[in-house]
Amino acid sequence: MNRTRLTPHFCLEELLFSQQAVRHGIGNTPPGSALINLSRLAEVLERIRAAVGNRTVTVTSGYRSPALNQRIGGSRASAHMDGRAADIVVRSMTPLQVARAIQGAGIALDQLIFEGSWVHVGIAKVGEPSRGDVLTAHFGPDGVKYQRGIVAA
Ligand SMILES: [Zn+2]
Repeated sequence: MNRTRLTPHFCLEELLFSQQAVRHGIGNTPPGSALINLSRLAEVLERIRAAVGNRTVTVTSGYRSPALNQRIGGSRASAHMDGRAADIVVRSMTPLQVARAIQGAGIALDQLIFEGSWVHVGIAKVGEPSRGDVLTAHFGPDGVKYQRGIVAA
């Protein structure tokens, strides 16, 4: 299988792969603008990898086509649709530890969200400043609520 390496430890394919897309036959091919962002995102993922002690960072959801994003109930303005966000997990670390390690490393992010079972990292649009939002997501019957900071359950 061909792999398009974006950075030493991240390839394009892992940022595009979606089990849900495969299962439901949804196309997940990014436009050129998203490809540029995915390369930028991979650079940030390298820095995150270093921040977690060079452990393997697994991307559970990277780019999402609008159809895929809708299917999995992503937010309407999701940075995933722009190739600017990744949901990640790191083996042998809890998502809480991962979120705190990223925060502690001072990596410039548009959004860092502790989502309980994973960590969402988002980068700003090209030419725009990073907001530096640090949030915790709480999933309830009324949908998702966000709280400032990284807060353990
Ligand atoms: Zn996400």
